Amino acid sequence: MSEEPRTVGIIGGGVAGLTAAYRLLQKGHRVQLFEASPSLGGLVRTFEIPAGGGEPIECFYHHLFTTDTAAIRLIDELGLGDRLTWHPSKVGIFYDGRIYPFVTPMDLLRFTPVGLIDRVRLGLMGLYLRRQKDGSRYESITAKEWVRRFAGQRNLDVVWGPLLRGKFGDLGDELVMTWLWNKIHLRFTSRGAGPSQREVLGYLRGSFGAWIEALIERVRELGGELEAGRPVQRIVADGGRVGLELAGERQETLFFDAVVATVANKIFRRIAPPLPEPYAEKLEGVPYQDALCLILTLKRPLSSMYWLNVNDRSIPFLAIIEHTNLIEPERYGGQHVVYVSNYLDKQSPLLSMDVDQVCELYLPHLKRINAAFEESWIIDRWLFRGADAQPVFTVGAGSRIPEHRTPVPGLYLANMSQIYPQDRGQNYSILLGETIAETVAADLARAQAAHSAV
Ligand SMILES: Cc1cc2nc3c(=O)[nH]c(=O)nc-3n(C[C@H](O)[C@H](O)[C@H](O)COP(=O)(O)OP(=O)(O)OC[C@H]3O[C@@H](n4cnc5c(N)ncnc54)[C@H](O)[C@@H]3O)c2cc1C
Repeated sequence: MSEEPRTVGIIGGGVAGLTAAYRLLQKGHRVQLFEASPSLGGLVRTFEIPAGGGEPIECFYHHLFTTDTAAIRLIDELGLGDRLTWHPSKVGIFYDGRIYPFVTPMDLLRFTPVGLIDRVRLGLMGLYLRRQKDGSRYESITAKEWVRRFAGQRNLDVVWGPLLRGKFGDLGDELVMTWLWNKIHLRFTSRGAGPSQREVLGYLRGSFGAWIEALIERVRELGGELEAGRPVQRIVADGGRVGLELAGERQETLFFDAVVATVANKIFRRIAPPLPEPYAEKLEGVPYQDALCLILTLKRPLSSMYWLNVNDRSIPFLAIIEHTNLIEPERYGGQHVVYVSNYLDKQSPLLSMDVDQVCELYLPHLKRINAAFEESWIIDRWLFRGADAQPVFTVGAGSRIPEHRTPVPGLYLANMSQIYPQDRGQNYSILLGETIAETVAADLARAQAAHSAV
Protein backbone atom coordinates (compact mmCIF):
# COMPACT_ATOMS: atom_id res chain seq x y z
CA MET A 1 0.00 0.00 0.00
CA SER A 2 1.27 3.53 -0.71
CA GLU A 3 1.79 5.82 2.30
CA GLU A 4 -0.83 8.38 1.36
CA PRO A 5 -4.06 7.47 -0.42
CA ARG A 6 -4.10 8.67 -4.00
CA THR A 7 -7.18 9.38 -6.08
CA VAL A 8 -8.02 7.22 -9.06
CA GLY A 9 -10.81 7.92 -11.55
CA ILE A 10 -12.21 4.98 -13.51
CA ILE A 11 -14.14 5.27 -16.78
CA GLY A 12 -16.62 2.41 -17.33
CA GLY A 13 -18.57 0.34 -14.83
CA GLY A 14 -18.30 -3.10 -16.44
CA VAL A 15 -16.34 -6.06 -15.09
CA ALA A 16 -12.92 -4.49 -15.75
CA GLY A 17 -13.77 -1.11 -14.20
CA LEU A 18 -15.46 -2.58 -11.13
CA THR A 19 -12.66 -5.09 -10.51
CA ALA A 20 -10.02 -2.37 -10.88
CA ALA A 21 -11.98 -0.21 -8.41
CA TYR A 22 -12.15 -3.08 -5.90
CA ARG A 23 -8.45 -3.94 -6.04
CA LEU A 24 -7.35 -0.28 -5.88
CA LEU A 25 -9.56 0.31 -2.84
CA GLN A 26 -8.06 -2.77 -1.20
CA LYS A 27 -4.66 -1.18 -1.76
CA GLY A 28 -5.83 1.91 0.11
CA HIS A 29 -6.54 4.32 -2.75
CA ARG A 30 -9.60 6.54 -3.19
CA VAL A 31 -11.68 5.57 -6.20
CA GLN A 32 -14.46 7.27 -8.17
CA LEU A 33 -15.96 5.34 -11.08
CA PHE A 34 -18.13 6.82 -13.85
CA GLU A 35 -20.43 4.74 -16.03
CA ALA A 36 -22.21 6.25 -19.04
CA SER A 37 -25.28 4.02 -19.06
CA PRO A 38 -27.95 4.18 -16.35
CA SER A 39 -26.78 0.97 -14.64
CA LEU A 40 -23.51 -0.72 -13.73
CA GLY A 41 -22.33 -4.10 -15.03
CA GLY A 42 -21.57 -3.30 -18.69
CA LEU A 43 -22.11 -6.36 -20.89
CA VAL A 44 -23.10 -8.46 -17.86
CA ARG A 45 -26.32 -6.49 -17.39
CA THR A 46 -29.45 -8.46 -16.51
CA PHE A 47 -33.22 -8.13 -16.54
CA GLU A 48 -36.18 -10.02 -15.10
CA ILE A 49 -38.56 -12.12 -17.12
CA PRO A 50 -42.18 -11.41 -16.10
CA ALA A 51 -43.69 -14.40 -14.28
CA GLY A 52 -40.17 -15.84 -14.37
CA GLY A 53 -39.95 -16.61 -10.65
CA GLY A 54 -37.93 -13.48 -9.87
CA GLU A 55 -34.56 -14.86 -10.99
CA PRO A 56 -32.74 -12.24 -13.12
CA ILE A 57 -31.17 -13.33 -16.40
CA GLU A 58 -28.43 -11.87 -18.59
CA CYS A 59 -29.31 -9.60 -21.53
CA PHE A 60 -26.47 -11.46 -23.31
CA TYR A 61 -26.05 -15.23 -22.69
CA HIS A 62 -23.20 -16.02 -20.27
CA HIS A 63 -21.43 -19.10 -18.93
CA LEU A 64 -17.97 -19.89 -17.56
CA PHE A 65 -15.41 -22.45 -18.63
CA THR A 66 -13.50 -24.45 -16.02
CA THR A 67 -10.38 -22.62 -17.22
CA ASP A 68 -11.88 -19.26 -16.14
CA THR A 69 -9.98 -19.47 -12.89
CA ALA A 70 -9.84 -15.71 -12.14
CA ALA A 71 -13.64 -15.49 -12.35
CA ILE A 72 -14.12 -18.61 -10.21
CA ARG A 73 -11.68 -17.22 -7.62
CA LEU A 74 -13.36 -13.79 -7.45
CA ILE A 75 -16.86 -15.27 -7.22
CA ASP A 76 -15.58 -17.37 -4.33
CA GLU A 77 -13.92 -14.38 -2.68
CA LEU A 78 -17.25 -12.52 -2.82
CA GLY A 79 -18.90 -15.39 -0.95
CA LEU A 80 -20.89 -16.76 -3.90
CA GLY A 81 -18.84 -19.87 -4.62
CA ASP A 82 -21.63 -22.23 -3.62
CA ARG A 83 -23.92 -20.64 -6.21
CA LEU A 84 -21.66 -21.60 -9.10
CA THR A 85 -22.86 -24.86 -10.62
CA TRP A 86 -21.42 -26.88 -13.50
CA HIS A 87 -23.47 -28.47 -16.26
CA PRO A 88 -22.63 -30.62 -19.28
CA SER A 89 -22.78 -28.44 -22.38
CA LYS A 90 -24.79 -29.52 -25.39
CA VAL A 91 -23.30 -28.02 -28.52
CA GLY A 92 -24.65 -28.57 -32.01
CA ILE A 93 -24.33 -27.41 -35.57
CA PHE A 94 -27.32 -26.66 -37.77
CA TYR A 95 -26.39 -27.54 -41.32
CA ASP A 96 -28.41 -28.42 -44.40
CA GLY A 97 -31.69 -28.57 -42.51
CA ARG A 98 -30.42 -30.79 -39.65
CA ILE A 99 -29.03 -30.41 -36.16
CA TYR A 100 -25.80 -32.34 -35.56
CA PRO A 101 -24.45 -32.74 -32.00
CA PHE A 102 -20.87 -31.48 -31.94
CA VAL A 103 -19.26 -32.10 -28.57
CA THR A 104 -17.33 -35.34 -28.44
CA PRO A 105 -14.89 -37.05 -30.84
CA MET A 106 -17.73 -39.51 -31.60
CA ASP A 107 -19.95 -36.61 -32.69
CA LEU A 108 -17.20 -35.52 -35.03
CA LEU A 109 -17.01 -38.99 -36.56
CA ARG A 110 -20.78 -38.94 -37.11
CA PHE A 111 -20.76 -35.51 -38.78
CA THR A 112 -21.71 -36.73 -42.27
CA PRO A 113 -21.92 -33.35 -44.08
CA VAL A 114 -18.20 -33.77 -44.64
CA GLY A 115 -16.68 -37.00 -45.96
CA LEU A 116 -14.81 -39.45 -43.76
CA ILE A 117 -11.35 -38.29 -44.79
CA ASP A 118 -12.27 -34.69 -44.05
CA ARG A 119 -13.69 -35.71 -40.66
CA VAL A 120 -10.37 -37.35 -39.85
CA ARG A 121 -8.55 -34.19 -40.96
CA LEU A 122 -10.85 -32.14 -38.71
CA GLY A 123 -10.04 -34.37 -35.74
CA LEU A 124 -6.31 -34.24 -36.51
CA MET A 125 -6.48 -30.46 -36.65
CA GLY A 126 -7.71 -30.33 -33.04
CA LEU A 127 -5.09 -32.85 -31.89
CA TYR A 128 -2.30 -31.03 -33.71
CA LEU A 129 -3.18 -27.59 -32.34
CA ARG A 130 -3.51 -28.92 -28.80
CA ARG A 131 0.13 -29.94 -28.96
CA GLN A 132 1.49 -26.64 -30.31
CA LYS A 133 2.99 -24.62 -27.49
CA ASP A 134 3.76 -21.36 -29.27
CA GLY A 135 0.89 -19.48 -30.91
CA SER A 136 3.00 -16.57 -32.09
CA ARG A 137 4.02 -18.58 -35.15
CA TYR A 138 0.44 -18.17 -36.41
CA GLU A 139 0.53 -14.35 -36.27
CA SER A 140 0.89 -13.88 -40.00
CA ILE A 141 -1.92 -16.11 -41.26
CA THR A 142 -5.70 -15.93 -41.00
CA ALA A 143 -7.49 -18.79 -39.28
CA LYS A 144 -9.48 -19.24 -42.48
CA GLU A 145 -6.36 -19.80 -44.61
CA TRP A 146 -4.66 -22.03 -42.03
CA VAL A 147 -7.78 -24.24 -41.70
CA ARG A 148 -8.09 -24.43 -45.49
CA ARG A 149 -4.48 -25.58 -45.79
CA PHE A 150 -4.57 -28.04 -42.89
CA ALA A 151 -8.12 -29.42 -42.98
CA GLY A 152 -9.23 -28.60 -46.53
CA GLN A 153 -11.79 -26.39 -48.27
CA ARG A 154 -14.79 -28.56 -47.36
CA ASN A 155 -14.09 -28.36 -43.64
CA LEU A 156 -13.62 -24.62 -43.99
CA ASP A 157 -16.91 -24.16 -45.88
CA VAL A 158 -19.05 -26.43 -43.73
CA VAL A 159 -17.54 -26.28 -40.26
CA TRP A 160 -14.88 -23.72 -39.41
CA GLY A 161 -15.84 -20.78 -41.66
CA PRO A 162 -19.38 -20.64 -40.21
CA LEU A 163 -18.09 -21.27 -36.65
CA LEU A 164 -15.77 -18.29 -36.92
CA ARG A 165 -18.50 -16.14 -38.44
CA GLY A 166 -20.76 -17.21 -35.55
CA LYS A 167 -18.31 -15.57 -33.18
CA PHE A 168 -17.04 -12.60 -35.20
CA GLY A 169 -19.68 -11.92 -37.86
CA ASP A 170 -18.36 -11.11 -41.33
CA LEU A 171 -14.95 -10.24 -39.88
CA GLY A 172 -14.56 -13.94 -38.95
CA ASP A 173 -12.80 -14.46 -42.30
CA GLU A 174 -10.04 -12.07 -41.23
CA LEU A 175 -9.41 -13.54 -37.78
CA VAL A 176 -5.76 -14.32 -37.07
CA MET A 177 -4.86 -17.99 -36.52
CA THR A 178 -3.19 -17.25 -33.16
CA TRP A 179 -6.63 -16.62 -31.70
CA LEU A 180 -7.97 -19.97 -32.91
CA TRP A 181 -4.87 -21.82 -31.73
CA ASN A 182 -5.33 -20.36 -28.25
CA LYS A 183 -9.06 -21.11 -28.17
CA ILE A 184 -8.57 -24.75 -29.13
CA HIS A 185 -5.91 -25.16 -26.45
CA LEU A 186 -8.15 -23.74 -23.78
CA ARG A 187 -11.36 -25.50 -24.81
CA PHE A 188 -9.69 -28.89 -24.68
CA THR A 189 -8.35 -28.16 -21.19
CA SER A 190 -11.91 -27.35 -20.17
CA ARG A 191 -13.02 -30.88 -21.09
CA GLY A 192 -12.98 -33.94 -18.88
CA ALA A 193 -10.76 -36.91 -19.61
CA GLY A 194 -12.07 -40.11 -21.17
CA PRO A 195 -13.56 -40.94 -24.53
CA SER A 196 -16.70 -38.83 -24.13
CA GLN A 197 -14.61 -35.70 -23.40
CA ARG A 198 -17.69 -33.89 -22.22
CA GLU A 199 -17.28 -30.22 -21.56
CA VAL A 200 -18.92 -28.65 -18.53
CA LEU A 201 -20.00 -25.02 -18.33
CA GLY A 202 -20.55 -22.93 -15.20
CA TYR A 203 -23.54 -20.81 -14.34
CA LEU A 204 -24.27 -18.69 -11.28
CA ARG A 205 -27.57 -19.13 -9.42
CA GLY A 206 -29.28 -15.73 -9.55
CA SER A 207 -27.40 -14.89 -12.81
CA PHE A 208 -23.90 -13.46 -13.25
CA GLY A 209 -25.48 -10.16 -12.23
CA ALA A 210 -25.35 -11.56 -8.68
CA TRP A 211 -21.55 -11.41 -8.49
CA ILE A 212 -21.60 -7.94 -10.06
CA GLU A 213 -24.05 -6.84 -7.32
CA ALA A 214 -21.82 -8.36 -4.64
CA LEU A 215 -18.79 -6.60 -6.12
CA ILE A 216 -20.62 -3.26 -6.21
CA GLU A 217 -21.58 -3.71 -2.56
CA ARG A 218 -17.99 -4.56 -1.57
CA VAL A 219 -16.65 -1.52 -3.49
CA ARG A 220 -19.12 0.76 -1.72
CA GLU A 221 -18.26 -0.74 1.69
CA LEU A 222 -14.63 0.12 1.01
CA GLY A 223 -15.61 3.74 0.31
CA GLY A 224 -15.59 3.62 -3.51
CA GLU A 225 -17.93 6.03 -5.27
CA LEU A 226 -19.78 4.56 -8.23
CA GLU A 227 -21.86 6.82 -10.45
CA ALA A 228 -24.01 5.45 -13.27
CA GLY A 229 -25.55 7.75 -15.88
CA ARG A 230 -22.33 9.83 -15.80
CA PRO A 231 -20.61 9.67 -19.21
CA VAL A 232 -17.07 10.99 -19.42
CA GLN A 233 -17.01 13.42 -22.32
CA ARG A 234 -13.36 14.30 -22.35
CA ILE A 235 -10.12 13.43 -20.59
CA VAL A 236 -7.75 16.34 -19.99
CA ALA A 237 -4.14 16.24 -18.86
CA ASP A 238 -2.92 19.04 -16.64
CA GLY A 239 0.48 19.16 -14.95
CA GLY A 240 0.73 15.47 -14.08
CA ARG A 241 -2.90 15.15 -13.01
CA VAL A 242 -5.67 13.80 -15.21
CA GLY A 243 -9.08 15.45 -15.40
CA LEU A 244 -12.43 14.01 -16.44
CA GLU A 245 -15.07 16.25 -17.97
CA LEU A 246 -18.34 14.73 -16.88
CA ALA A 247 -21.81 14.98 -18.37
CA GLY A 248 -25.04 14.03 -16.62
CA GLU A 249 -26.95 15.99 -13.98
CA ARG A 250 -23.86 17.92 -12.87
CA GLN A 251 -21.42 19.04 -15.55
CA GLU A 252 -17.99 19.34 -13.96
CA THR A 253 -14.33 18.45 -14.36
CA LEU A 254 -12.75 16.33 -11.64
CA PHE A 255 -8.99 15.75 -11.32
CA PHE A 256 -7.24 12.54 -10.24
CA ASP A 257 -3.72 11.29 -9.60
CA ALA A 258 -4.45 8.53 -12.10
CA VAL A 259 -7.27 7.62 -14.48
CA VAL A 260 -8.11 4.17 -15.85
CA ALA A 261 -10.28 3.95 -18.98
CA THR A 262 -12.00 0.62 -19.64
CA VAL A 263 -13.90 1.77 -22.73
CA ALA A 264 -13.42 0.48 -26.29
CA ASN A 265 -10.44 1.82 -28.28
CA LYS A 266 -12.46 4.11 -30.55
CA ILE A 267 -14.27 5.73 -27.63
CA PHE A 268 -10.97 6.14 -25.82
CA ARG A 269 -9.39 7.83 -28.82
CA ARG A 270 -12.36 10.20 -29.07
CA ILE A 271 -12.32 11.33 -25.43
CA ALA A 272 -8.56 11.18 -24.72
CA PRO A 273 -6.20 14.13 -25.13
CA PRO A 274 -4.31 14.07 -28.47
CA LEU A 275 -2.19 10.90 -28.47
CA PRO A 276 1.05 10.53 -30.41
CA GLU A 277 1.60 7.86 -33.06
CA PRO A 278 2.10 4.92 -32.95
CA TYR A 279 -0.18 4.66 -29.88
CA ALA A 280 -3.07 6.43 -31.65
CA GLU A 281 -2.61 4.15 -34.64
CA LYS A 282 -2.82 1.06 -32.43
CA LEU A 283 -6.20 2.25 -31.17
CA GLU A 284 -7.47 1.87 -34.73
CA GLY A 285 -5.82 -1.53 -35.18
CA VAL A 286 -8.48 -3.77 -33.64
CA PRO A 287 -11.96 -3.61 -35.19
CA TYR A 288 -14.98 -4.35 -33.00
CA GLN A 289 -18.37 -5.88 -33.76
CA ASP A 290 -21.65 -4.99 -32.05
CA ALA A 291 -23.75 -7.78 -30.52
CA LEU A 292 -27.46 -8.06 -31.23
CA CYS A 293 -29.44 -10.53 -29.12
CA LEU A 294 -33.10 -11.31 -29.55
CA ILE A 295 -34.45 -13.08 -26.46
CA LEU A 296 -37.57 -15.18 -26.73
CA THR A 297 -39.36 -16.87 -23.89
CA LEU A 298 -41.20 -19.91 -25.22
CA LYS A 299 -43.84 -22.33 -23.98
CA ARG A 300 -41.79 -25.23 -25.39
CA PRO A 301 -38.12 -25.93 -26.06
CA LEU A 302 -36.85 -24.99 -29.50
CA SER A 303 -34.18 -27.69 -29.64
CA SER A 304 -32.24 -29.95 -27.29
CA MET A 305 -29.00 -27.95 -27.70
CA TYR A 306 -27.62 -25.32 -25.36
CA TRP A 307 -25.40 -23.81 -28.06
CA LEU A 308 -26.46 -24.24 -31.66
CA ASN A 309 -24.18 -22.77 -34.30
CA VAL A 310 -26.13 -21.93 -37.42
CA ASN A 311 -23.80 -22.94 -40.25
CA ASP A 312 -26.17 -21.81 -42.98
CA ARG A 313 -25.61 -18.41 -44.52
CA SER A 314 -29.18 -18.16 -45.81
CA ILE A 315 -30.25 -17.75 -42.18
CA PRO A 316 -29.89 -14.16 -40.92
CA PHE A 317 -28.48 -15.03 -37.47
CA LEU A 318 -25.37 -16.85 -36.32
CA ALA A 319 -26.22 -18.93 -33.28
CA ILE A 320 -29.05 -19.92 -30.97
CA ILE A 321 -28.28 -20.23 -27.28
CA GLU A 322 -31.08 -22.00 -25.45
CA HIS A 323 -30.27 -21.07 -21.87
CA THR A 324 -32.85 -23.47 -20.46
CA ASN A 325 -30.99 -26.40 -22.02
CA LEU A 326 -28.19 -25.58 -19.56
CA ILE A 327 -30.29 -24.36 -16.62
CA GLU A 328 -33.66 -25.88 -15.82
CA PRO A 329 -36.69 -23.85 -17.08
CA GLU A 330 -38.35 -24.19 -13.65
CA ARG A 331 -36.03 -21.40 -12.52
CA TYR A 332 -37.86 -19.08 -14.95
CA GLY A 333 -41.42 -20.07 -14.14
CA GLY A 334 -41.26 -23.02 -16.57
CA GLN A 335 -40.50 -20.76 -19.54
CA HIS A 336 -37.87 -21.73 -22.12
CA VAL A 337 -35.35 -18.95 -22.71
CA VAL A 338 -33.76 -18.65 -26.14
CA TYR A 339 -31.16 -16.11 -27.29
CA VAL A 340 -30.90 -15.58 -31.04
CA SER A 341 -27.44 -14.13 -31.52
CA ASN A 342 -25.72 -11.98 -34.11
CA TYR A 343 -22.45 -10.05 -34.33
CA LEU A 344 -22.62 -7.14 -36.72
CA ASP A 345 -20.75 -4.19 -38.19
CA LYS A 346 -21.99 -0.83 -36.97
CA GLN A 347 -23.33 -0.15 -40.50
CA SER A 348 -25.59 -3.22 -40.48
CA PRO A 349 -29.26 -2.32 -41.09
CA LEU A 350 -30.22 -4.92 -38.44
CA LEU A 351 -28.81 -2.65 -35.73
CA SER A 352 -31.45 0.00 -36.44
CA MET A 353 -34.36 -2.46 -36.42
CA ASP A 354 -36.81 -2.67 -33.53
CA VAL A 355 -37.85 -5.94 -31.91
CA ASP A 356 -40.87 -6.37 -34.25
CA GLN A 357 -38.74 -5.94 -37.36
CA VAL A 358 -36.09 -8.35 -36.06
CA CYS A 359 -38.78 -10.93 -35.23
CA GLU A 360 -40.29 -10.56 -38.69
CA LEU A 361 -36.86 -11.27 -40.19
CA TYR A 362 -35.80 -14.10 -37.86
CA LEU A 363 -38.93 -16.06 -36.95
CA PRO A 364 -39.55 -17.80 -40.30
CA HIS A 365 -36.05 -19.28 -39.96
CA LEU A 366 -36.77 -20.74 -36.53
CA LYS A 367 -39.22 -23.02 -38.31
CA ARG A 368 -36.31 -24.36 -40.34
CA ILE A 369 -34.54 -25.28 -37.12
CA ASN A 370 -37.62 -26.85 -35.59
CA ALA A 371 -40.43 -27.52 -38.08
CA ALA A 372 -42.98 -27.66 -35.27
CA PHE A 373 -42.17 -24.13 -34.08
CA GLU A 374 -45.19 -21.79 -34.06
CA GLU A 375 -45.28 -18.10 -33.19
CA SER A 376 -47.94 -19.01 -30.65
CA TRP A 377 -45.13 -20.62 -28.58
CA ILE A 378 -43.70 -17.15 -27.90
CA ILE A 379 -44.59 -15.75 -24.50
CA ASP A 380 -42.47 -12.59 -24.70
CA ARG A 381 -39.48 -11.12 -26.54
CA TRP A 382 -36.74 -8.52 -26.01
CA LEU A 383 -33.97 -7.08 -28.13
CA PHE A 384 -30.58 -6.08 -26.68
CA ARG A 385 -27.70 -4.41 -28.45
CA GLY A 386 -24.17 -4.40 -27.07
CA ALA A 387 -21.97 -1.75 -28.68
CA ASP A 388 -18.30 -2.69 -29.27
CA ALA A 389 -19.01 -6.09 -27.73
CA GLN A 390 -16.48 -8.20 -29.66
CA PRO A 391 -12.97 -7.13 -30.63
CA VAL A 392 -11.72 -8.95 -33.72
CA PHE A 393 -8.03 -9.80 -33.90
CA THR A 394 -6.79 -9.79 -37.47
CA VAL A 395 -3.39 -10.74 -38.93
CA GLY A 396 -0.54 -9.04 -37.05
CA ALA A 397 -2.82 -8.18 -34.11
CA GLY A 398 -0.05 -9.03 -31.65
CA SER A 399 1.92 -5.94 -32.71
CA ARG A 400 -1.09 -3.63 -32.60
CA ILE A 401 -2.25 -4.08 -29.00
CA PRO A 402 -2.09 -0.73 -27.18
CA GLU A 403 -0.09 -0.72 -23.94
CA HIS A 404 -1.87 -0.22 -20.60
CA ARG A 405 0.32 2.82 -19.84
CA THR A 406 -0.67 5.43 -22.42
CA PRO A 407 1.70 8.20 -23.56
CA VAL A 408 -0.19 10.60 -21.22
CA PRO A 409 1.31 10.34 -17.71
CA GLY A 410 -1.24 9.06 -15.22
CA LEU A 411 -3.66 7.82 -17.92
CA TYR A 412 -4.17 4.07 -18.34
CA LEU A 413 -6.17 1.89 -20.72
CA ALA A 414 -7.61 -1.53 -19.80
CA ASN A 415 -10.09 -2.86 -22.31
CA MET A 416 -11.07 -6.04 -24.15
CA SER A 417 -8.70 -5.37 -27.05
CA GLN A 418 -5.77 -5.97 -24.68
CA ILE A 419 -6.62 -9.55 -23.71
CA TYR A 420 -5.20 -10.89 -26.97
CA PRO A 421 -4.93 -13.76 -27.80
CA GLN A 422 -7.54 -14.77 -25.21
CA ASP A 423 -11.23 -14.89 -26.00
CA ARG A 424 -13.26 -12.02 -24.59
CA GLY A 425 -15.02 -12.97 -21.34
CA GLN A 426 -15.64 -12.05 -17.73
CA ASN A 427 -12.52 -13.94 -16.70
CA TYR A 428 -10.19 -11.84 -18.82
CA SER A 429 -11.90 -8.57 -17.89
CA ILE A 430 -11.34 -9.49 -14.23
CA LEU A 431 -7.67 -10.14 -15.00
CA LEU A 432 -7.52 -6.82 -16.86
CA GLY A 433 -8.97 -5.02 -13.83
CA GLU A 434 -6.50 -6.73 -11.51
CA THR A 435 -3.50 -6.10 -13.76
CA ILE A 436 -4.31 -2.42 -14.17
CA ALA A 437 -4.84 -1.98 -10.43
CA GLU A 438 -1.35 -3.47 -9.80
CA THR A 439 0.21 -1.26 -12.48
CA VAL A 440 -1.45 1.96 -11.27
CA ALA A 441 -0.68 1.23 -7.60
CA ALA A 442 2.98 0.48 -8.39
CA ASP A 443 3.35 3.68 -10.45
CA LEU A 444 1.68 5.79 -7.77
CA ALA A 445 3.93 4.30 -5.08
CA ARG A 446 7.00 4.99 -7.23
CA ALA A 447 5.94 8.57 -7.90
CA GLN A 448 5.32 9.13 -4.21
CA ALA A 449 8.69 7.65 -3.24
CA ALA A 450 10.41 9.90 -5.80
CA HIS A 451 8.52 12.91 -4.46
CA SER A 452 9.44 12.11 -0.82
CA ALA A 453 13.11 11.72 -1.76
CA VAL A 454 13.26 15.26 -3.16
C1 LIG B 1 -23.34 -11.69 -26.63
C2 LIG B 1 -22.28 -11.82 -25.57
C3 LIG B 1 -22.05 -13.04 -24.98
C4 LIG B 1 -21.08 -13.17 -24.00
N1 LIG B 1 -20.89 -14.40 -23.43
C5 LIG B 1 -20.01 -14.51 -22.41
C6 LIG B 1 -19.88 -15.75 -21.73
O1 LIG B 1 -20.54 -16.72 -22.04
N2 LIG B 1 -18.98 -15.82 -20.70
C7 LIG B 1 -18.23 -14.74 -20.32
O2 LIG B 1 -17.47 -14.85 -19.35
N3 LIG B 1 -18.31 -13.57 -20.98
C8 LIG B 1 -19.17 -13.44 -22.01
N4 LIG B 1 -19.29 -12.25 -22.66
C9 LIG B 1 -18.25 -11.23 -22.47
C10 LIG B 1 -18.33 -10.42 -21.18
O3 LIG B 1 -19.62 -9.92 -20.99
C11 LIG B 1 -17.33 -9.29 -21.33
O4 LIG B 1 -16.05 -9.82 -21.59
C12 LIG B 1 -17.20 -8.41 -20.11
O5 LIG B 1 -18.44 -8.12 -19.55
C13 LIG B 1 -16.52 -7.12 -20.54
O6 LIG B 1 -16.35 -6.26 -19.44
P1 LIG B 1 -15.56 -4.91 -19.64
O7 LIG B 1 -15.63 -4.16 -18.37
O8 LIG B 1 -14.22 -5.22 -20.17
O9 LIG B 1 -16.31 -4.13 -20.81
P2 LIG B 1 -17.81 -3.54 -20.84
O10 LIG B 1 -18.75 -4.42 -20.16
O11 LIG B 1 -18.07 -3.18 -22.27
O12 LIG B 1 -17.66 -2.20 -19.97
C14 LIG B 1 -17.27 -0.96 -20.50
C15 LIG B 1 -18.20 0.07 -19.91
O13 LIG B 1 -17.77 1.39 -20.31
C16 LIG B 1 -18.93 2.19 -20.42
N5 LIG B 1 -18.63 3.42 -21.19
C17 LIG B 1 -18.49 3.55 -22.53
N6 LIG B 1 -18.22 4.85 -22.82
C18 LIG B 1 -18.18 5.52 -21.64
C19 LIG B 1 -17.96 6.90 -21.29
N7 LIG B 1 -17.69 7.85 -22.21
N8 LIG B 1 -18.02 7.25 -19.98
C20 LIG B 1 -18.28 6.33 -19.02
N9 LIG B 1 -18.51 5.02 -19.30
C21 LIG B 1 -18.46 4.62 -20.59
C22 LIG B 1 -19.90 1.26 -21.14
O14 LIG B 1 -21.23 1.72 -20.99
C23 LIG B 1 -19.64 -0.07 -20.41
O15 LIG B 1 -20.50 -0.25 -19.32
C24 LIG B 1 -20.29 -12.06 -23.61
C25 LIG B 1 -20.53 -10.82 -24.19
C26 LIG B 1 -21.52 -10.69 -25.16
C27 LIG B 1 -21.78 -9.35 -25.78
